[in-house]
Amino acid sequence: MSTVANEIAPALQAKIERLDALLDSIAARHANVKLASSLAAEDMLLTHAILSRGVKIGIFSLNTGRLHAETLGMIERVSERYGYEIEQFRPQQDAVDEYVTQHGLNAFYESIDLRKRCCEIRKVEPLNRALSDVSAWVTGQRREQSVTRAELHEEEQDNARGIAKFNPLADWTEADVWAYLSALDVPVNPLHARGYPSIGCEPCTRAVRPGEDSRAGRWWWESRDTKECGLHITSVSAIPVVEVSSIGQANQD
Ligand code: SF4
Repeated sequence: MSTVANEIAPALQAKIERLDALLDSIAARHANVKLASSLAAEDMLLTHAILSRGVKIGIFSLNTGRLHAETLGMIERVSERYGYEIEQFRPQQDAVDEYVTQHGLNAFYESIDLRKRCCEIRKVEPLNRALSDVSAWVTGQRREQSVTRAELHEEEQDNARGIAKFNPLADWTEADVWAYLSALDVPVNPLHARGYPSIGCEPCTRAVRPGEDSRAGRWWWESRDTKECGLHITSVSAIPVVEVSSIGQANQD
């Protein structure tokens, strides 16, 4: 169980214990597994849950070249707090240069196709490289984050890559996440306090207004149902949730 710095409610404590058991199970079932961290709140929660307990799950981040300085600063904060160097994957420079020369540095505002092409170069290709040597990956996605994530499962099969995909925070609420971060004194991106619940590249992310959903500030000029960058829209199959009480047994299969 994670080290508790402050008092936390029993219901959250139960969720933490279940999360820890799930992460242990993932590490036991997969020798090569990585967390894809955006360095935002959910991923910092998972980073703490992994590093504070020495769970054998690697952590990487996609350094797109367009991140906020505050987001890049989280890499240093993780290093200071946990003594862990987050692996960074950057886009291929020749692909970036070609896009910028042909379309312009900020051409993603002009059309969904050009936005998706930029995400393909700066995020999807580096993600595919990051995941080329693993049998599973872990994300901080939650169901309530947006309409595009309402059907999210805790465990899925990433059919495009032929690997497992785990979303251990699928049923966590925003309040759960922040209660955990506060109770365990986890470092968080300062942009959250300035109205950014979801953080991506600087030119494609704005603060949200009261009442807007947490991903309303991502690609705000597009309609709600196109707002994924391609990292999570590969074909996935749901896998039935394994009860925590049976995880240890399942690991030995
Ligand atoms: S979020 Fe914006 S800047 Fe970042 S890769 Fe996608 S289109 Fe490009």
